[in-house]
Amino acid sequence: MARTWRVSWRTCGKAGINRRIFCYQYNSAIMNALTGIVATTFLAIVVWLSLRWIRERKFQRLASEILARPYVEMLSAQVPLYAGMPANLQQRLQGLVNVFLNDKNFFGSAGLEVTDQMRITVAGNACLLLLNRENPRFPGSRTIILYPDTYIATETTRDGLLVREGHSVRLGESWHRGPVILSWSDIVDGISDPTDGQNVIIHEFAHKLDEENVAMDGLPILNAAEDYTDWARVMTQEFAGLTARAEKRANKVLNAYGTVSPPEFFAVASEAFFERGKKMQKHLPEIYAQLQRFYGVDPATWTGR
Ligand SMILES: [Zn+2]
Repeated sequence: MARTWRVSWRTCGKAGINRRIFCYQYNSAIMNALTGIVATTFLAIVVWLSLRWIRERKFQRLASEILARPYVEMLSAQVPLYAGMPANLQQRLQGLVNVFLNDKNFFGSAGLEVTDQMRITVAGNACLLLLNRENPRFPGSRTIILYPDTYIATETTRDGLLVREGHSVRLGESWHRGPVILSWSDIVDGISDPTDGQNVIIHEFAHKLDEENVAMDGLPILNAAEDYTDWARVMTQEFAGLTARAEKRANKVLNAYGTVSPPEFFAVASEAFFERGKKMQKHLPEIYAQLQRFYGVDPATWTGR
């Protein structure tokens, strides 16, 4: 025993033994911390996946339900494109409207009382944009505010140290990561002529899709990586084309408001894509093809377009 002890002492030394004890304690502290991090991360992933699964199940359940008869009649009356859509897309729209109404909160402003007809009108026109989208949801806020008529908004602009405050009359707006605000009388005006390329609901919700990738810049998230080059080329070329035509008052398909900026161009082009599909396909085939790929639908083939 004594000889063994001496051999052991010489081999390891007192410092070596202490170092091993220290290393063991040190390693055990690291291991505990690592185990804690791994367990917390694992738990967070499980919770996140579970919530995602629950959300997806709820979405699938709501999207597969068809609306009650009175709501279908309302949808048909308030979404003029509905009647000309193929039956499978009509059914899809009903499901998406169901999801939308379940997800969004409507508020009336300036004394407006929000009715079912108003909710169906907003949901039905907005969900046209989602019919065949891979991610059929609008990002950002769940709040929709309705005004009875056009409304006055306060605008603050900065020029260096100078801050200017002004007012502008609006028929709708989409706040970045915030609510969508709409004027009911302008909604009614927009749907009263479904071929004029003006639909404030489509316009504002196109802005919502545009902000999906953070910036509202006229470049939403496209379906595939190889789509971006063509999108940039066509949109740049068509934005310049609209600017030139608008100066000569020769713009026949797109509203001149699209010349304000690339995001406005995208929103205006989306309105025309749905309401003037045939015309856009004939006169502006390249932009029609880009939007057809983005939205996954072909409104030019819907009857009455
Ligand atoms: Zn706009």
